[in-house]
Amino acid sequence: MISFYPGPSKIYPEVGAFMQEAATSGILSVNHRSKDFVALSEKTIKLLKSKLLIPEDYSVFFTSSATECWEIIAQSLIKEKSLHLYNGAFGEKWFEYTQKLKPLVRPVPFGLEKSPEVFRADEDIELIGMVQNETSNGTQISNSIIRSFREQNPSCLIAADATSSMAGIHLEFEAADVWLASVQKCFGLPAGLGLLICSPKAIQRALEINETNHYNSLTFLIDKMKVWQTSYTPNVLGIFLLSRILENIPSIIETDKLIRERATGWNHFLSSFSHLRPLIQAEDIRSSTVMVVQANEQETERIKKLALNEGILPGNGYGTWAKNTFRIANFPAISEQDIKLFQQFLQKNIS
Ligand SMILES: *Cc1c(COP(=O)(O)O)cnc(C)c1O
Repeated sequence: MISFYPGPSKIYPEVGAFMQEAATSGILSVNHRSKDFVALSEKTIKLLKSKLLIPEDYSVFFTSSATECWEIIAQSLIKEKSLHLYNGAFGEKWFEYTQKLKPLVRPVPFGLEKSPEVFRADEDIELIGMVQNETSNGTQISNSIIRSFREQNPSCLIAADATSSMAGIHLEFEAADVWLASVQKCFGLPAGLGLLICSPKAIQRALEINETNHYNSLTFLIDKMKVWQTSYTPNVLGIFLLSRILENIPSIIETDKLIRERATGWNHFLSSFSHLRPLIQAEDIRSSTVMVVQANEQETERIKKLALNEGILPGNGYGTWAKNTFRIANFPAISEQDIKLFQQFLQKNIS
């Protein structure tokens, strides 16, 4: 089965061998306060920074998921008020989880076919959260818009959810203070490991707020990360696999180029069908890593069924678009050959 699901998604073919290597190397049995773990953690974070071009003075923390990162931000980086921009299901969920912890947060919904309007928030707003790549509807917010938010709101923290784009496209990390992701999307790894990336300003804010009510309070994570450790036993297998994959992949500049070329190829290919259309018409906000294709309900159902019969798994539509769209992950672990097979299938079965 070739998976085009945008998460969990196709893992890199090397992952199996790396799992075996992890098991025989002994790393999975070491204590997370040991020298061996510290060496793995330090190496992984340094590789991540160098492959993804993360600024040297930013900090990286291991978590269990992107969802956990949402909660860490809400509990440890917001005293009372934040704004959450969204045009889709993941952004809305982030707002809702934050609201449960901090009832004064405010939603800022925006339209599907437009980038969010850059604005200066009220003085008492501590953080503005946005989803860089909205996996539910295949839209993205550009580096330059994120940077404009930061420039317009110098006393605010800017937080960006890049769960389905980090390691796929080049993110300008300097443009925001907090970035979050998990590895089961563009990293091509099994689920169970999240990444939280913080600017010096975000670290300073966390230390000022000094929230210590949770096992994963950012204050604790910061303290332990001084010696490359975590506040609880981390997913050592996940970290090991991440380090091995990072060693293998090229710099994000190269991957970014490939992913954008493939996205252009997909859009061009899909435009030749009269029964299919991209959910998002505005090309400048269309995601590079998650393509959302619209058809009528019957046709969507038929395509998904036929594809499964041929060993191809497209992603189901999400939320509002569950029945009349399907999604195609354009993640780096998907090969040229996989794409060719899917396109041949579509050519044969759709008009
Ligand atoms: C998948 C996804 C999440 C949730 O990730 P988990 O690792 O399952 O918590 C959050 N935000 C976006 C944009 C996603 O695509």
